[in-house]
Amino acid sequence: MTTTYDPHHPLYLDEADTRAELERVYDLCHGCRLCFKFCPSFPTLFDYIDQHDDQDAGKMTPAQQDHVIDECFQCKLCYINCPYIPGQHEWALDFPRLMLRADAMRRANGQVTLRDKVTTTVMGNTDAIGKVSVATVKLTNKVMGAKPGSLIRKVVEKTAGISSVRLLPKFARTRFSSWFKQRPKVRVGKKQGSVTVFPTCLVEYQEPAIGKALVKVYEHNGIECSLTDAGCCGAPFLHSGDMAAFTKVAVDNVAMLAAEVRKGNDIVVPQPTCSYVLKKDYLDYVGGPDAQLVSEHTFDAAEYLMKVHKTEGSSLDTQFPGEVPETITYHTPCHLRAQNIGLKSRDLMKLTGAKIKLVQQCSGIDGMWGLRAENAELSIPIGKKLGEMVQAADGDVVAGDCHLANTAITEQTGDSPLHPLQVVAKAYGLDTE
Ligand code: SF4
Ligand code: SF4
Repeated sequence: MTTTYDPHHPLYLDEADTRAELERVYDLCHGCRLCFKFCPSFPTLFDYIDQHDDQDAGKMTPAQQDHVIDECFQCKLCYINCPYIPGQHEWALDFPRLMLRADAMRRANGQVTLRDKVTTTVMGNTDAIGKVSVATVKLTNKVMGAKPGSLIRKVVEKTAGISSVRLLPKFARTRFSSWFKQRPKVRVGKKQGSVTVFPTCLVEYQEPAIGKALVKVYEHNGIECSLTDAGCCGAPFLHSGDMAAFTKVAVDNVAMLAAEVRKGNDIVVPQPTCSYVLKKDYLDYVGGPDAQLVSEHTFDAAEYLMKVHKTEGSSLDTQFPGEVPETITYHTPCHLRAQNIGLKSRDLMKLTGAKIKLVQQCSGIDGMWGLRAENAELSIPIGKKLGEMVQAADGDVVAGDCHLANTAITEQTGDSPLHPLQVVAKAYGLDTE
């Protein structure tokens, strides 16, 4: 890997080297302009360069370079759109990874405010916060579920940096892992696979119903499920430039998940950002044979089911005696599109006989970027556009893999989207309560 994308390179956090690379890439993007529509970063970048008659990217100040970085929410859509990526073109340009490097460089060089660090700590320690929040669920949901703009939400914004105007996902009464460990032992019929569920903090603490649906659909199709003790994937730290905290989490998770793979299990993940991190980012930040093993054996939850269905000698049950909607509006999350695996959740839901209407529009949340107070103003119009597209599609049911994007849809439309695995569980008639 090059200096730019290898977090272990001695110059990775060097300010002069990083800023020179920003200048090189900003100049190339200014000449290309293909990505103008994805996010505010590119229009901001083009405006700064166009202010100069000679359109010299080298004339951007560090503050202007930083403005572009701050507006990137790591959706990765520019990477999948870019013809100049490493391995395919001599420019070797990976815009989202350069933004990660720039964030890490600024943090390492003392260019991040104390408030920013506090917000990252609060949002990054999802396991600690999740455990306390589930244990005190009534109080937590009263505070976090208080009306957007209310006094209590303003106090949370002031102290923790979490936007007072965004709808936040509620916490559950029971953790997914508690349900999993207490449920009666299940013997699957004809065995078609065996997996370890990496539940993700969103499913573990906030929406365990997704995990229950996953386990029931998998077991219904002869796939044995185990659970890992591995914690949050670390995405909130990674996306805020806290490389040390991310790497610590990543090293522990890689060791635990590699042990599961050695037992003969694949790893399945019901949230797109987290499966992306396990597949791609652990390779960069941890590396080595264990990270490679984890990457090769990690699957998005629907991706794994469709692999079973398409593999010779195995198939999914295609009888759906339960609730099958006529039409489903399906939101495709950016971090699933960035995995280049095709639209497996759509294909899975199609098996039920429902007609799928696709909505491909970023939610503007991406990890937790859109929930930070300073980003709400930029993020909300992106979520609004998504809400309008969901309403225009007018499906009988709204579905989406990402619980945070689904919350943004709820915020804008009042609909409560289901995860595709919940749609399929209902179509099988499985009890997921
Ligand atoms: S990753 Fe997404 S938000 Fe970041 S620069 Fe690329 S398109 Fe914009
Ligand atoms: S990221 Fe690639 S495709 Fe997008 S503007 Fe830059 S050079 Fe063009």
